[in-house]
Amino acid sequence: MAHVVKCKVCGQQFDRDKIPCIAVSAKRYAHIKCATEAGLSGQKIEPPEKDKDLIALEDYIMKLFNEDYINARIKKQIKEYKEEYNFSYSGILKTLIYFFEIRGNSIDKANGGIGIVPYIYKEANQYYYNLYLAKIANEQKDISVYKPKVKYIEIAPPKVEKRKIRLFNFDE
Ligand SMILES: [Zn+2]
Repeated sequence: MAHVVKCKVCGQQFDRDKIPCIAVSAKRYAHIKCATEAGLSGQKIEPPEKDKDLIALEDYIMKLFNEDYINARIKKQIKEYKEEYNFSYSGILKTLIYFFEIRGNSIDKANGGIGIVPYIYKEANQYYYNLYLAKIANEQKDISVYKPKVKYIEIAPPKVEKRKIRLFNFDE
């Protein structure tokens, strides 16, 4: 939810949930720079912390649609997928990357929204899971390279560090 306020000094409107500012009186706000220049003091208001995964998702969507905001329709879709489908922000992001970059679908198909997500979410998850498995397999291949191949010389086999088992997490 946006909290649009008017800077007491320069008169410009800004969203105090996005831009840190100074509360110069009970209900008046000013840009930090403006307040400093005008010699006003007050409590510093920091924007509420936003979920990092949501920020990443929104950044990606804005780039995807070449816009500098998230339209109401997409906001609603994200909310719906999160709350009703129980998708994670990161999962939605990966699904979009999968659909548009890996599968190479045109943005024209998006029709100004991200309605494709529920249809492709599982498939995207599977894709990233397979990638993860391939990566693990490669890592294990690398280990075998270091095994001594010459048998007539006594060489202590290199210690292979026990690898931590990492669990695949689509939501990371
Ligand atoms: Zn200002």
